[in-house]
Amino acid sequence: MSILDKLACMSDTGEILIGVAPIERFEGLAPAAHPASILPGAQSVIVTATEIQRGDYRGLEEGTVWSPAGRWDYGQPIKVAQIVEREGYNCVPYVPSADAAMPGRPVRDGAVAPNVGILVEYAAVAAGLGEIGYCGLFMTRKFGIRQSLGVAITDAPLPGTPISMETICTKCKKCASLCPLGALSATQSMTLTIMGKKMEIGLINENACKVCPNGVYTDTQLLPGWDELYHKINKSNQLVSFSQPVSGLSSLNRLKAACGRACVASFEHEDMRRYSHDFRVRAPWGMRPEEMEDYDDYK
Ligand code: SF4
Ligand code: SF4
Repeated sequence: MSILDKLACMSDTGEILIGVAPIERFEGLAPAAHPASILPGAQSVIVTATEIQRGDYRGLEEGTVWSPAGRWDYGQPIKVAQIVEREGYNCVPYVPSADAAMPGRPVRDGAVAPNVGILVEYAAVAAGLGEIGYCGLFMTRKFGIRQSLGVAITDAPLPGTPISMETICTKCKKCASLCPLGALSATQSMTLTIMGKKMEIGLINENACKVCPNGVYTDTQLLPGWDELYHKINKSNQLVSFSQPVSGLSSLNRLKAACGRACVASFEHEDMRRYSHDFRVRAPWGMRPEEMEDYDDYK
């Protein structure tokens, strides 16, 4: 049984998608974001997309339970690494690190300064799993935006998963029209191209997202900046463009925010599981920061 066959067994129950990006698909990325900076001699990057159950969104959809959805997954990459290393290859399970790098400078001349930050959504597109939707979140046909992404870097040479040029996002723009802060533009967008796959992404004012009381999170409360989430903003929400498109997409976890839930409620694809009833059972709620009772505490 080949490594790929063994990896395919992990997807048997349908809740995990696995794709492979040969290292050539990362050509041109800076060393600070390149998988080979972590594993010299890397040949392949294996990416997992693990379904986040639709029910996990229910608390925030009702506005009764606040909890983040895990954007990054370390568990599946560890299983991938176990499979690959059993075959005698190196395999590095990777998760974006919130830890402070010690030391904060290269350990030798010519080395890359820690921490190398793999662009996980980039890797997921390069591994043929899906695309970045208009909302700026990674999407697959099977789960929409509802997945946790995991990465494992290996020196095993593996065939790449084909990248489909078919668009997944329907461009319904519900993610933009249902943003209570008007932070995601329905009319202004940028095009991001990865391996020839062009993706239209709405311009977003991430400064507004940082103060959004509608379900946005940083990926860990330990991240510096967590306490910066609630700041005063004015009502104009000036739109800004991404200066660094991919890393800019990665800075906040919007999976369960109003924009993300608008996509969960509206996106359908024939590859998706069918449910007995709709996700959205009433008009969505939405708040602005200044409407929060304890808003004055965060000024
Ligand atoms: S809500 Fe519509 S436009 Fe926005 S990301 Fe989802 S499918 Fe695309
Ligand atoms: S995180 Fe909040 S402010 Fe930002 S786009 Fe989503 S709903 Fe709008």
